[in-house]
Amino acid sequence: MSVKENLSVIENSIEEACQNCGRTKEDITVIAVTKYVSIARAEEAIEAGIEHLGENRKEGLLEKYESIGTKAKWHFIGSLQSRKVKDVIDQVSMIHSLDRKSLAKEINKRASQPVPCFIQVNVSGEESKHGLAPDDVEEFVDLMKNYENIQVVGLMTMAPHTDNEEQLRGNFRKLRALRDIIRDKHLPHAPCESLSMGMSNDYAIAIEEGATHVRIGSKLVGEEANQ
Ligand SMILES: *Cc1c(COP(=O)(O)O)cnc(C)c1O
Repeated sequence: MSVKENLSVIENSIEEACQNCGRTKEDITVIAVTKYVSIARAEEAIEAGIEHLGENRKEGLLEKYESIGTKAKWHFIGSLQSRKVKDVIDQVSMIHSLDRKSLAKEINKRASQPVPCFIQVNVSGEESKHGLAPDDVEEFVDLMKNYENIQVVGLMTMAPHTDNEEQLRGNFRKLRALRDIIRDKHLPHAPCESLSMGMSNDYAIAIEEGATHVRIGSKLVGEEANQ
């Protein structure tokens, strides 16, 4: 399938999910996750009308950035080693995986202007997942006021790998409730209005539960470099 065909299927289900919960599709940013695919396939996504690309590794991001550059807005969605921050900081528009003080410190040091960051939260508590425990998020957000180049725009989570819809909804609702608490504090350094949640298998559910940024890889651009 072409990216264009995939995108039209996805746009229809986004529209439907929005209707189910009284939102509009303009509220949703679709990030095409290109970590599995070739530069050509990422270019095809741009031609299909995608404006946001997501990568989870420094190497993948820089390789694609070299060809595509500012034709896309770049999102860093994977766990980020502090020593690699300096290599990607000028390319990325948003970082979705802020999960520790040492990383905040390094972003703050290397960035020349405030960087919109999502704080990654491990809502499901699975050991294999990165992110702060929900109970630690408020304190972490407060700490971020010390870093003038960190702007906390929202929270991000990776849902558990399951088809259990209630379990997925439960995870997304918890993240949203935490987002509401932080947003309602009206902290200048942490407007915290956005929710980065939802991937290929659960983006429609995530949107019904409040997602503003969905990160879609396999169902949008595919999973193999030769597509
Ligand atoms: C790979 C990845 C995605 C996309 O996953 P799909 O299931 O292929 O849509 C989204 N978010 C993160 C953080 C990822 O690493």
